[in-house]
Amino acid sequence: MNILFATAEAVPFAKTGGLGDVCGSLPRELAKLGHRPVLILPAFRQVFESGIEIESTGISVEVPIGQKRVQGKLLRSQLPNSEVPVYFVEQADYYDRPQLYGENSEDYRDNCERFTFFSRAVLEAIVALELEVEVLHCHDWCAGLIPAYLKTLYNERPPFDQIASLYTIHNLAFQGNFWHWDMALTGIDWKHFNWRQMEFYGNLSFMKTGIAFADAVSTVSPTYALEIMNPPLSCGLEGALQHRREDLFGILNGADYADWNPATDSFLGDNCYDVSNYETGKAACKAALQSEVGLPIDPDKPLLAAVGRLADQKGFDLIARVMQQWAEQSDAQWVILGTGDPKYHQVLGQLAADHPEKIAVRLEFSNELAHRIEAGADMFLMPSQYEPCGLNQLYSLKYGTVPVVRATGGLADTVVDATPQTLDQGSATGFSFAEYTSLALSETLSRACSLFADKPAWQQLVKTGMKQDWSWKTSAQKYGELYKQIVEHARRGVLQ
Ligand code: ADP
Repeated sequence: MNILFATAEAVPFAKTGGLGDVCGSLPRELAKLGHRPVLILPAFRQVFESGIEIESTGISVEVPIGQKRVQGKLLRSQLPNSEVPVYFVEQADYYDRPQLYGENSEDYRDNCERFTFFSRAVLEAIVALELEVEVLHCHDWCAGLIPAYLKTLYNERPPFDQIASLYTIHNLAFQGNFWHWDMALTGIDWKHFNWRQMEFYGNLSFMKTGIAFADAVSTVSPTYALEIMNPPLSCGLEGALQHRREDLFGILNGADYADWNPATDSFLGDNCYDVSNYETGKAACKAALQSEVGLPIDPDKPLLAAVGRLADQKGFDLIARVMQQWAEQSDAQWVILGTGDPKYHQVLGQLAADHPEKIAVRLEFSNELAHRIEAGADMFLMPSQYEPCGLNQLYSLKYGTVPVVRATGGLADTVVDATPQTLDQGSATGFSFAEYTSLALSETLSRACSLFADKPAWQQLVKTGMKQDWSWKTSAQKYGELYKQIVEHARRGVLQ
């Protein structure tokens, strides 16, 4: 099928989190299955810094934004190691900025305008580039207006009358809510600014718009699909989601083993390993990591890691509290990599300064170090408040780094807690807990460290995880089926 991905992020061009990983990997996997995916993104500054060749198409689009008409140039590249075309909408005033969505913890003030332009430019690009599209797959709030355009302003115009839409929620908490007067920027009739469609507590909501207008809605794990139907994880959108209950699907993300595989990972130098020789390979990676981040080299001390956005969602308050306690009373070592909320920069930086022998903190974004942490650590912590899918636990399983997770969203779907029973059955792959408290995390880590001391049991746990297949293959097949279903059942006609 012909699928157009409309997204703000796709690895290796632009990424702030899992959305980038998904949109960089899923299209490649769909192509392997015989589909014909194409991507379109804003030409952020990051895109030009990716080092990948990007050429002009010589084609421009013009988009009405309120009373203005704004031009964008269409550029073209390709997803590396594939034939998947990637187009970019270049509009320097909107996208040539240091970050994608905002700076210093503040969103860019014109985000509504920036992504209204992008959404409409995507539709104009379909015509200008003569793209054949059966399903327009829109990702997260940045592309939330697109399903509405398809069902309103563009509805009766070929080729749009033949294009169905899928809207995928990667994180419901980021909604793209703007003051109501921004509705005028969109050009969509005010009659759609109602509580069932685009209005959300007096604001214009891109997320709600996507949910209301798309032919189908999906999210990135079966458990998260259930959790977002009700508070608190519905983030106020339980009504909108329950209304779409019949066409809301949960499809788990996959891991891209071309990028994340300890057997071929170029960031590991000579220390690559797989399940057959993981003990020596991992020991070498652990020593290299301890040395790289300035911790004492010691194979016997458990090395606990976390990598991610330093946000409340990711449970860094629990991690910081447990690190503080454990630094005094345990010999465990910690390595943390992340950027985000200044309060966590402060707290984590201080902990590292107070306990340099036990705690290493890197407050930066480093893909290379993320890979080496996955390889070198013994355990990987994800005590998230909520986690739509989570990718790091999948990478951790592959790298033999035992995940310690809170059982929510995709973490609940992918990690089997080590209990006497699951250990006996050989199905255990990690550790999980339910209550969002530092006590629960600390107790679970104690359980994990006890098992770590029991080498044969630990090896069994590690190997079970490493042997699992969380590649994109199964998920891509599920998306393929969903696309087919959507095309067959797409609602035609303007929503009233
Ligand atoms: P989310 O999308 O909510 O941020 P995910 O677990 O789905 O979380 O994906 C996060 C991705 O971003 C992973 O590939 C992770 O390794 C990466 N990542 C996050 N922060 C950093 C960082 N500081 N340095 C390197 N990679 C990071």
